Amino acid sequence: MSEVKIIKDIKTIHNEIALLKKSGAITGFVPTMGFLHKGHTSLIEKSVKECDATVVSIFINPIQFGQAEDFNNYPRDTKRDYNIIRQTGAQYIFMPGESSMYGDNFKTTVSVKKLGKIMCGRYRPGHFDGVCTVVLKLFNIIGPDIAYFGQKDFQQLFIIKKMVEDLNININIKECPTVREEDGLAISSRNIYLSDIERENAPLLFKTLKAAAAMIKRKNTSIKKIKKTSLELLSGNCCIKSIDYFDFRNRSTLEEIKSLKNYFSREGRPGILIAAAIRMKSTRLIDNVVI
Ligand code: AMP
Repeated sequence: MSEVKIIKDIKTIHNEIALLKKSGAITGFVPTMGFLHKGHTSLIEKSVKECDATVVSIFINPIQFGQAEDFNNYPRDTKRDYNIIRQTGAQYIFMPGESSMYGDNFKTTVSVKKLGKIMCGRYRPGHFDGVCTVVLKLFNIIGPDIAYFGQKDFQQLFIIKKMVEDLNININIKECPTVREEDGLAISSRNIYLSDIERENAPLLFKTLKAAAAMIKRKNTSIKKIKKTSLELLSGNCCIKSIDYFDFRNRSTLEEIKSLKNYFSREGRPGILIAAAIRMKSTRLIDNVVI
């Protein structure tokens, strides 16, 4: 097991990584909100494999949570996170305090246009502005060569890649596949909120997404019908209170795909993203598949 340095101060991590980079080291960065699981460690391990030094940040970013959301109850366990990170071979944990990230005089945020208002953005107004603001701050503080993000949060990953392109940020963004439990449920820190019966029923989300993908591949039906079948499957479940969205989108633009007819007739057609968010009593779950 390697030694991990925990750094809380912005200037200290900035200077330490700048020095490393001066010596020619390739630096990888994995931003997280802590309460780490196998999804996070897959990102960290990829960075450790590909880079000379890896920084993992743990920061529960208050400005990406809505007022009625779970910022205060978001699961936290720094000791456990520290032990998990030690086993991955990462060298640094950056854990800034809230007041050092957002002092009293904090006045500037990133504003995500249309992409931040569709899908999850429709139900979590301002969420992606908060995500981009903190990610840009962390990028500037750490200055990594490569940053690793999970496909589980497909829209977040998409928006961050767009921010990097639009704002000319010199960091390579790498996407990592969704890590799942054996029964298919995408692993998430928030799964700890699920009651036993909710946990039993939660894999239905991925099953429904996969079934929708299989129907598309068979080419013998319409998006409208697939969506209707999928919504019926989900809304008939005892634990699902509501469905925020179940969308079919072009994976390269996030534009909605309304008809498969046009889609299959197009040359070099792009991949389809099927993404959904559902609410159980205890928590909200998101997941997606890409065809
Ligand atoms: P979070 O701590 O939830 O903000 O997630 C930090 C990073 O881990 C983000 O890039 C997520 O997309 C990624 N991540 C979370 N869960 C998973 C998972 N099950 N598989 C792969 N990546 C994940």
